[in-house]
Amino acid sequence: MSQPHFSFRLHHIDSKCCARRGTFSTPHGSVETPAFMPVGTQATVKGLEIEMLRATGAQMILGNTYHLALRPGEGVVEKLGGLHQFMGWEGPILTDSGGFQIFSLAANVRIAEEGASFRSHLDGNPVELTPERSVQIQESLGSDVAMVLDHVVALPNSIEVLRDATERSIRWARRAKDAHRRTGQAQFGIVQGGLDVGLRIECTKALSKLDFQGYAVGGLGVGEPPREMYQVLEETVPALPENKPRYLMGVGRPQDILEATARGIDLFDCVLPTRNGRNAMAFTDQGTLRLRNLKYIDDPRPLEEGCACPACRRSRGYLRHLFMADEMLGPILLTAHNVTYYQRLMAEARAAVSENRFLEFKVAKLAGWNAADVQSEP
Ligand SMILES: [Zn+2]
Repeated sequence: MSQPHFSFRLHHIDSKCCARRGTFSTPHGSVETPAFMPVGTQATVKGLEIEMLRATGAQMILGNTYHLALRPGEGVVEKLGGLHQFMGWEGPILTDSGGFQIFSLAANVRIAEEGASFRSHLDGNPVELTPERSVQIQESLGSDVAMVLDHVVALPNSIEVLRDATERSIRWARRAKDAHRRTGQAQFGIVQGGLDVGLRIECTKALSKLDFQGYAVGGLGVGEPPREMYQVLEETVPALPENKPRYLMGVGRPQDILEATARGIDLFDCVLPTRNGRNAMAFTDQGTLRLRNLKYIDDPRPLEEGCACPACRRSRGYLRHLFMADEMLGPILLTAHNVTYYQRLMAEARAAVSENRFLEFKVAKLAGWNAADVQSEP
């Protein structure tokens, strides 16, 4: 189906790596890429009112089909005007298909050719999710971008299991494509294949023939060493259509985002900035700060000098106090800071790509993070 409301304009590719600058246009506005989408699982980016979310610089957010279908039900969201109106966010929204949540949250999962059957993590009730049902839920939610249902497996896994899941994901993608009706909603395919580059390339070629409006790389960031993920991206991403947006699902840490951007990824989402914010951990250019640490008790400095977020109008000592006193403002402010930090990182990345200095930018950022963060990967 033709989707006149969507376009991806590729402005520039960095002369020294595969990092790209583009604009992805949707019926609810444009997204300058590379971009990071904060995760709004339950039709809310946890802790942030829409005005605060907008102030972080976020352009596009993610919602979850699995969660919203179980509660309140997509019919309720549709009746209340669709996901944009339901939550009050007027910008672009992407909805996940439910594939990853079945893999990570549901109990007693049985995967058959028809679809997945499992028990809800909320009440234990049996649920069935087929490629067609996932399309139908996302059409009711009214997101700008819908993802196809995929079969996600744990890593590492045997080549037989990986091949079976990858081939099923391709068949499901074809069914999702056939089932998709809604105009004003783009549909992205999801490349699977674990850490097997041959399977990844096969899957990429099969999905490219289906001519989706964008392509995601899924099933990564599920416990494999980061270097192996980067290797898979290095070999898989160049096989994706150049004139379509490329989305790396569920990844991740700031260093992963820069490494994947250098390999040609345009879109990201991850719970890290919001989840870590709720756990008193702040991202900065000098690495992460764990605000519960006693050393911040009377620290007068902001989390990060020059940050325009509301948390950085207070001292580290005050923010630490909020967490120690179990005040809800602590998680709210740190979430605002972390999402702002991720958006600033992406804006800086976009500027660096435009000036062909993305690799130097990446080296400088990694040096700052590694110098202070003992927990970061080697
Ligand atoms: Zn801040």
